[in-house]
Amino acid sequence: MSDHGKRNSTQGLSTRAIHLGYDPATAQGALTPPIYQTSTYAFETVEQGAEYFAGLKPGYVYGRTRNPTQALLEQRLASLEGAEAGLAVASGMAAISGTFLSHLKSGDRLIADKILYGNTFTLISKLPRFGIETEFVDLGNPEALAAAAKKPFNAIFFETPANPNLRIIDIAAVSAVARKAGALTIVDNTFATPVLQRPLEHGADLVVHSATKYLGGHGDLLAGIVVGREDLVKEVRMNGLRFLTGATLSPLTAFLVLRGLKTLELRVNQHAKSAAMVVDFLGAQSAISNISYPALPSHPARAIYLRQMSAGGGLVSFELDGGIERGRKFMNALKLISRAVSLGDAETLIQHPASMTHASYGAEERAKHGISDGLIRMSVGLENTEDLLDDLEQALRAL
Ligand code: PLP
Repeated sequence: MSDHGKRNSTQGLSTRAIHLGYDPATAQGALTPPIYQTSTYAFETVEQGAEYFAGLKPGYVYGRTRNPTQALLEQRLASLEGAEAGLAVASGMAAISGTFLSHLKSGDRLIADKILYGNTFTLISKLPRFGIETEFVDLGNPEALAAAAKKPFNAIFFETPANPNLRIIDIAAVSAVARKAGALTIVDNTFATPVLQRPLEHGADLVVHSATKYLGGHGDLLAGIVVGREDLVKEVRMNGLRFLTGATLSPLTAFLVLRGLKTLELRVNQHAKSAAMVVDFLGAQSAISNISYPALPSHPARAIYLRQMSAGGGLVSFELDGGIERGRKFMNALKLISRAVSLGDAETLIQHPASMTHASYGAEERAKHGISDGLIRMSVGLENTEDLLDDLEQALRAL
């Protein structure tokens, strides 16, 4: 094997996303890594199979837990996040549920931030049925965290920036509290991506992603990622994925995420540039209020943003004066921007969290956790910014 794809530690993020871990000389010179479309692997002898099964020698056994296309994706993602190891699974929810079910057991306690993607909130709300105690805490408030941490806990989970209102949580501060308690810190880094923020560098133990979003980047797949220390990730693969969820990523989808990763840095930087222009535009409109964008100097967690993120990302949330009725009218008047959930696609997407991604919270919980009914969340895509601004302007004129 040549040394192609081996040099890694000092190379830039895009170079690693394009080359790391693959040498065309190992695959007939194919420039693009092959898709290993197989469910099982042939052993040369029964003895070899037994050794692979027992973990005495490394080797592929069965497609639920390992596939070479998946392995390349895992290696690249681990490198981009600065992790020892990675695991790719079928969706972001599979990554999060597999991580919880692998690292928490009956009698354990999980602390989670109060603002989360709606289905993650519901998943955590269901953990008590397995004997896992859960508590939703405002992790943006150090006193609230200190109070919750008085009782023993085993893991802490949060998103930063958080879905849907782009709240920012201090990764280093929360991780320090968890470490003192001997608990794991698990961060959902879907919104920032490793291009803008690498939570492991700030003390987190595990990072999860919905790779459906920016990592895949083209709105054509579902995938999830877990990265972190080797022993922690191994537990999610060999326990969570193998026995508890079975939520394996298909080799074809692993290939599509690998393809998306090649342009990750380029795309995320452009998403962030375009979002900043959209934020400027929205800020100048009298009908728009409560704009939340991580890079805004007025963001309440400005100092934390400067410490842990390198740009604001592609998501913006805001409200329209006149509440949700006016917001609905505005969203329905958009012609180029699509009304759709999800994020991180080339297409600009707009959605209403209270009736869509965060409907599962229920009205009372949303009010308690500060997700207002008038909030609108936009994932700024890669269209030419002038066209996006034209669309926003004509929709505002239609009000
Ligand atoms: N985490 C965040 C922050 C999300 O926004 C989502 C989905 O929107 C998920 C996790 C779940 O990912 P998936 O839809 O790939 O299961």
